[in-house]
Amino acid sequence: MTAEIAPITPWNPSRSATARVKNPLPVPERCPHCGGQCSIVGNEQIYGRVFGEWPYAVLCAGVVEPAVVLPELDSLETGEGDAH
Ligand SMILES: [Zn+2]
Repeated sequence: MTAEIAPITPWNPSRSATARVKNPLPVPERCPHCGGQCSIVGNEQIYGRVFGEWPYAVLCAGVVEPAVVLPELDSLETGEGDAH
């Protein structure tokens, strides 16, 4: 009998890895920018192919073109409101 080891994914995370996280944050269900539905996806949906050792991302589906949730971009956009 061989022990079947399930692959490590966001839905089946490594117990040793999650034990090292001191302040875990919940996966957002709603985009903080547009309120759209967010979900964990394989990053091939963003890059066109699987990329990196942990090929997952939280993707917002609230706009016509799917956009990655990037909080730092939002603060850049709001910094210079009506400069013209
Ligand atoms: Zn959004």
